Amino acid sequence: MALTALDEFLESLTTKALTGEVPAREEMSAVLATADEDVLDVVAAASRVRRNFFGMRVKLNYLVNMKSGLCPEDCSYCSQRLGSDAEIMKYSWISSEEAASNAERAIAAGAKRVCLVASGRGPSERDIDRVTHTISAIKDTAPEVEVCVCLGLLKPGQAERLFDSGAHAYNHNLNTSAANYRQICSTHTFDDRVATVGVAQRAGLSPCSGAIFGMGETDDDVVEVALALRNLDPDSVPVNFLIPFEGTPLGGRWDLTPQRCLRILAMFRFVFPDVEVRLAAGREIHLRGLQPLALHLVNSMFLGDYLTSEGRPGDEDRAMIADAGFVIEGAAEQTLPQHRHDLVTIRRRGAGTDQPANT
Ligand code: SF4
Repeated sequence: MALTALDEFLESLTTKALTGEVPAREEMSAVLATADEDVLDVVAAASRVRRNFFGMRVKLNYLVNMKSGLCPEDCSYCSQRLGSDAEIMKYSWISSEEAASNAERAIAAGAKRVCLVASGRGPSERDIDRVTHTISAIKDTAPEVEVCVCLGLLKPGQAERLFDSGAHAYNHNLNTSAANYRQICSTHTFDDRVATVGVAQRAGLSPCSGAIFGMGETDDDVVEVALALRNLDPDSVPVNFLIPFEGTPLGGRWDLTPQRCLRILAMFRFVFPDVEVRLAAGREIHLRGLQPLALHLVNSMFLGDYLTSEGRPGDEDRAMIADAGFVIEGAAEQTLPQHRHDLVTIRRRGAGTDQPANT
C-alpha cells in the first residue's frame, strides 16, 4: 500500500520524537494544520511516542486550592483575577490539616501527585511557612506522594525553603507565547514567569510549566510557547484548555474543538516525547466525548476538581482510563523514563523522614 504524504510526515515526526529530536517549527505548525478527518492518524502517530516512553500508565494529580480568589494580578483567563465577577468561592488560607485531609482522600483514590496552589502574585515568608507545614502534614501519612507547589513569583530563598521542606516540584505556567503575553496579562511579564521556573529549578525543584489554549492565540503562538517551554527543560507540562468563566475578560470564548485540542496535545507529545504531558483544566468541556483519545497522547491528568470549577466524578475518570485500556500509575512506579528520571533525585532524607538532612 502506498504511503500518503501525511503518513510519511507523521512517520518522520514519530522517528524524530523517539530519538529525542525536536521537530522543526514548520513541522509543529503542520501538525496543527492537519484536517479534522486526519485527526486519528495524528493521534495514532503520537501515541507510539507516548507508549514508547510511558507504556499504558496514567499518572493522576490532585489540586488543592489553598487560597481562592482575591488576586491582585489580572490574568484574563483566571476567575480569581483582580476585578473578576465570576461567582467562585473566595477564601483565605485553609489550614494545613484541611489541605492534608483533602490530599489524603485524593491519594487513596489514586493520586500520585498533590499540587498545593494559592492565588496571588507570590508568597510571603508566612505563606511559605503555611505551605511547608502543609507539606509535612501530607508527608506524615503519605511519604511517597509527590508534592508540587504553585504560589506564583518567588523571592530569593523561597524555592530553597520549599525544597528543604520536602516539595518535589514547582509549577509556574508560561501560558502563552512571549508575543501574546501582553494580551492576557498586564501585571507581570512572560520573562517574570520564565525566571521563576529557573529559580525553582536551580533550587532542586522539578520544574512543571505548561500553557493554556483557547485564548485567541494563533498557531504561531502555540508553536512558540511549546518551544519556549522546551527551552525550560521541564519535567512536567500541563496542557490546559480555557474554562471561559463568565465575569472574566475571556468569558464566553469558545474557540476550541475536540479535534483542535487533540492536535495541540499531539504536537506537545512530539515536542516533549519523554516528558510528563498532563491533560489539565478544560478537558471535559472542550474534548467532551473524545477524552479517551487524549489518553493516547498524555501520560498524566488531573483527578477531581479544578481550582475554582468542578471536574467530573473521579469514578467516571477511573472508568474511562480502564475502558480505554490504560492503568493508573502506582506510587512506587517511576513516571519519567530512566534517562530523565536521573536528572532529579527524589529526596528521601531530612524533613519528613527519619534520615539526617544533607547539610
Ligand atoms: S493566574 Fe494566578 S496570578 Fe494570575 S490572576 Fe489567577 S491567581 Fe492571580
